[in-house]
Formats: sequence, C-alpha cells, structure tokens
Amino acid sequence: MNSMKAKISEIFKSIQGEGVYQGVEQVFVRFYGCNVHCSFCDTKLTGYSEKTVNEVLDDIVSLGECGSVSLTGGEPLVQADYVKILSAKLKAMGKIVYLETNGIMYESLKEVIDYIDVVSMDFKLPSSTKLINFWQEHERFLEVAKAKEVFVKAVIGKGTEREDIIESIRIIKRIKPDTPFVLQPQNPFEELLSEKLVFLSDICLREHIDVRTMCQLHKILGVK
Ligand code: SF4
Repeated sequence: MNSMKAKISEIFKSIQGEGVYQGVEQVFVRFYGCNVHCSFCDTKLTGYSEKTVNEVLDDIVSLGECGSVSLTGGEPLVQADYVKILSAKLKAMGKIVYLETNGIMYESLKEVIDYIDVVSMDFKLPSSTKLINFWQEHERFLEVAKAKEVFVKAVIGKGTEREDIIESIRIIKRIKPDTPFVLQPQNPFEELLSEKLVFLSDICLREHIDVRTMCQLHKILGVK
C-alpha cells in the first residue's frame, strides 16, 4: 500500500486565497488531473511527478511549520484511494486536512470523508462553466460533506444566470441551510460584475443564506 503513487503537480506553502479560510497559511498539495473542463479554469496543470504518500509527507515536512494542508487540484478525488491514505497520515501528524473539490464525485467523497476536516466544495453553475449542470451530484456531495465543516463556492462571471443561484439556494436549504455560500468573481475588475454580485447576493440574503462575496486573495497579493 505504501508504494501507491499519485500524480502530483506541485507542493508548496502559501496563503489560502479563496473561501472562508482566506488568509490562512497552508501547505498545498496539488493533484494532477480533473474530471471536468470548466471554461474559466485557471489551473495550469502542465506536468506532474509520481509520488508515494511518504514522499509527499517528506515534502510537506520540508516546508516547515504549518497547521493545515490543502488537498487541491485539478480534482483530488480522481485519486481518492491515495487521498484516503494521505489524509489519514496527515491527521495522525495533527494536521488539519482541507479538501478543495469541484463537488461532483460524491461516491469518492464517501471513501475519504472520515479523514477530512474541512470541505471547500464548488457548485459548478452551468451558466458560468458552460458545461452541463451537476445539481444532482452537488446535492449528493453536500449530503456527504455535511458530516464535516463545509462551505460552498461558486464562480460568478458576466454570463452567470440568476436561475443558477436560485437552484444553489434550493440545494443548500434542503441539505444544510447554514452552509456558507461564497460568490467568487471570475474577474473582480470586470465591468458591471460588481452590480451582478450585489444582485445575486441580495437574492441569497432574502432566502436567509449565509452568503459572502470574496475575491481570490492570492491573485491580489501576487502569490501562488
Ligand atoms: S473543476 Fe477546477 S481544476 Fe477542474 S476544470 Fe474546473 S476549475 Fe479547473
């Protein structure tokens, strides 16, 4: 089992730029590969190294003090068997295990949820991603994730439609009404986007959703 390898794009220490843990220093383990292709994807997965769990743990330790480790991607749950072993070891080391996921692979989440502390899951709004909708998958995913701390994040662009926010609200209210819902502008400097963000945030507030509008801090700071 210890010889199992995963495709890892990079391991680095930085500041969490997205969601309710924004500003927290973390070590990031970026898994290679994703199960979808969002139109706005800004993750440059140009290459990878195949690493055992122990090699990844050595890399994490070499980066010095850090209380929490973000498993990110790509989509980490594409390599769920490996995520399970790595997460169990990280927890044994006393680390907070933070999973960044597109919120689609709910069966894989069931395999690893016992070893995860915080789930940062996306709702892939079809009007933002230009993909099919994943509402059923997101609903089932949140149902599993609610066993742990969880928040939902959605990228908002010029083309994002009100109906997608209404569907997101319906899922959150049905599964876990107190889930924080982060609206993340695709490009915070885009003309008229701030008006749309306020408009969509108001819809959430009227439905008593814990909505927060947040830009990607790492891009503003110019860090990874
Ligand atoms: S889920 Fe994330 S990594 Fe995958 S294509 Fe979409 S934005 Fe990129």
